Amino acid sequence: MIREIFEKNQIALTDKQVEQFQKYYELLVDWNQKINLTSITEYQDVIWKHFLDSGLFVNCKDLVSQEQKKVLDLGTGAGFPGIPLAILIPNYEFTLVDSLRKRIDFLEIVCKELNLENVKLFHGRAEDVGKDSKFREQFDFAVSRAVADLPVLLEYCLPFVKVGGRFVSYKSRKYEEEMDRAQSAMETLHCSCQNVYEFSLEFDQSKRYLLSIEKKEETDSKYPRKPNKIKKNPL
Ligand code: SAH
Repeated sequence: MIREIFEKNQIALTDKQVEQFQKYYELLVDWNQKINLTSITEYQDVIWKHFLDSGLFVNCKDLVSQEQKKVLDLGTGAGFPGIPLAILIPNYEFTLVDSLRKRIDFLEIVCKELNLENVKLFHGRAEDVGKDSKFREQFDFAVSRAVADLPVLLEYCLPFVKVGGRFVSYKSRKYEEEMDRAQSAMETLHCSCQNVYEFSLEFDQSKRYLLSIEKKEETDSKYPRKPNKIKKNPL
């Protein structure tokens, strides 16, 4: 079923990738009984709403190439979109960040069991990690799904991206309202939306949007601010 669903969405999987997704599903459902990872656990639901949804990045023209690129996934949770993308794009290197230690511990096991060699894991908050020179402005792409409203998310994610690189934000409906509210954050952080990739999931007819936001200039060192400031007073 995994292969079929991805093929319907123009993504061909190798046997190895099918096995990796299968194993990921088993680990996710198993560990979900011990730690809170996801409310979606039915096989078909997980494949569509977590695996395929995360994988939509590969169907965005110009984002995937044969080169080696570095991608940061902020607020990865149980590994979305980072793990499916690491399975699908082996020549890209992924750094997955989350502020919950237990989720990072789970992902250590996933990477080991799936033999994923292109994934690094880091426990921390965007507000701290984004100030660390090992991470700041080091990535070709930042990605993030279901973490925060766009003005907040831009302040979390843009510091990680190299000048000329992109932040790809996974959004569902009402993304236009979020974009309107994010105009001043985009100006302050010197970035602009270059492309909105639109997808319709046949599974439940729902729409998905990947906003591709290009960073034009270096981020001022005062960003990201402290957590309470970002949330109380979004840019
Ligand atoms: N991206 C995943 C998880 C979404 S839940 C998915 O789409 O399923 C949001 C996750 O973001 C949680 O795991 C939470 O711990 C993490 N998170 C929230 N704020 C964060 C911050 N400031 N820095 C790092 N991680 C954060």
